[in-house]
Amino acid sequence: MKVYNIAIDGPSGAGKSTVAKILAGRLGIMYLDTGALYRAVGLKAMRCGWDENDEKVAALLEDTDVSVRFENGLQKVYLDGEDVTEAIRLGGVSEYGSRFSALPSVRRALLGMQRKAASEASCVLDGRDIGTCVLPDAEYKFFLTASVDNRAKRRYEELKNKGQSVTLEKVREDIVARDERDTNRPVAPLRKADDAIEINSDDMSADEVAERMIGYIRK
Ligand code: C5P
Repeated sequence: MKVYNIAIDGPSGAGKSTVAKILAGRLGIMYLDTGALYRAVGLKAMRCGWDENDEKVAALLEDTDVSVRFENGLQKVYLDGEDVTEAIRLGGVSEYGSRFSALPSVRRALLGMQRKAASEASCVLDGRDIGTCVLPDAEYKFFLTASVDNRAKRRYEELKNKGQSVTLEKVREDIVARDERDTNRPVAPLRKADDAIEINSDDMSADEVAERMIGYIRK
């Protein structure tokens, strides 16, 4: 069967990863969480105290190995051979991921991996620039949004359920700062592709969003 890709872009906390997992499960295809790659670079930057200097980071990335493996259908992320799947979700990493993802050197380093994965097997990819930059020819493109308040509430619940000690205010602040950076960076900013279908998930469950996407895909 022909390989096809589904791009889901949108701001932090819009529900992309939950919907992407449901969609991938329903369609029997892979799910690639591209934010995890940026988080892995962010984790390294945080641990090693990197400066946000594009030239320096380009050189440091030569000695950095970010890779993904799929184990029992689940994406595992490796940084220099270490399984960092859990570590990239811990406090502080999202901010570093967002800051360093604005550097052209970081985007360049991760672009090929994403395209390769997408060309090898049908998959759902979620991120910020999948439909605009990574896979401008993806067969299906969606742009998922929700209000800042709803996104903050969802992310807060998610982190709390994982046992992290956070406040709703701090999570909201983090989301607003990431929106600002992701939207205003000069390289591959967060933007709806002209041919993407926009879905607002404010009043919809993740299952309902996935159902609507499947409806578009089957059409
Ligand atoms: O999606 P997630 O919140 O895990 O992504 C972490 C950070 O990586 C985001 O805040 C965003 O700045 C960056 N990112 C990106 N392009 C992507 C995916 C994520 O710039 N395709």
